[in-house]
Amino acid sequence: MSRRSALAMVFTVAFVGALAAVPAGADTSGAGSGGADQTALPVGDDPASAAEVDKVYSCQTSFNSNAPGAFNTGDWFNGDGTWDLTKKPSVDGAVTWPDAKVSITAAGVNRIISGNGLPTEETTGEFPVASSDDAYAFDRNPNSISAQTVTITLAKKPKVADEPTCLGMGTIGIFVNGVQFFNALDAGGRDAAAYEIQDSCDGHPEMSGTYHYHSGSRCVRENLDTGSGHSKLVGYASDGFGLYGTRGTNGETVNNSDLDECHGHTHKVKFNGKKQRTYHYHLTAEYPYTIGCYRGTPVSTNG
Ligand SMILES: [Zn+2]
Ligand SMILES: [Zn+2]
Repeated sequence: MSRRSALAMVFTVAFVGALAAVPAGADTSGAGSGGADQTALPVGDDPASAAEVDKVYSCQTSFNSNAPGAFNTGDWFNGDGTWDLTKKPSVDGAVTWPDAKVSITAAGVNRIISGNGLPTEETTGEFPVASSDDAYAFDRNPNSISAQTVTITLAKKPKVADEPTCLGMGTIGIFVNGVQFFNALDAGGRDAAAYEIQDSCDGHPEMSGTYHYHSGSRCVRENLDTGSGHSKLVGYASDGFGLYGTRGTNGETVNNSDLDECHGHTHKVKFNGKKQRTYHYHLTAEYPYTIGCYRGTPVSTNG
């Protein structure tokens, strides 16, 4: 079995487990539960110019429809505004990065995250996309993955700001495995996870070689968010607030309908080494996947 199908299988099993945890009679229908059905995820086009549930509040408001990237769609688009993750191809390969590094350290009131941007525990696909790869029919990402110099200084105790802030098109946060994440949009303003062909960990490189995710990487969810009950912290947004996996307090799957416009909520959770009441973001299986806007004050809208 290839790593890709092994991963797909593990994720499916985890998902079925999560569904089974929903109490009988609980309402799992409605737009907010799109995350529960991987075969009919909402295609999240149409970035918003204000904070809005189910949307990306995008700083960039006009997009080039001829932007480079995925140029063809396939049968994983259901034709009714939804797409099927289980049918979508991935970029081939399982490249390991032994030189990957990341460190997360406290320095007074700050948290300093530094590294070289490569995944410390996960593999990547082979980039540029090879002409022999089935992904090539849809997305010919010509970029190579390369080490970067990453230093992000965040407040250790971030505060909720008076107003939410829009998301830029570059780095908006970083996972604890050292991989940065971008918002859910591709260069054309479309749902990146639906259109772009990523590798089996849902990542790919951009022009300068920065490897990044646009969604809650299935590898992050499987490798970094093990256990039961409320998800573990899997990353930090550029406003300093923590990003957790897809499980709420009782282990139930979190959907957009459980979260605010920025894709977060406030309750007691483990943060800075102790359980405390704080705002935090959650990954969801559905768009916008990571965060929808900044609830706090970002170090810059692009991280
Ligand atoms: Zn990208
Ligand atoms: Zn939570």
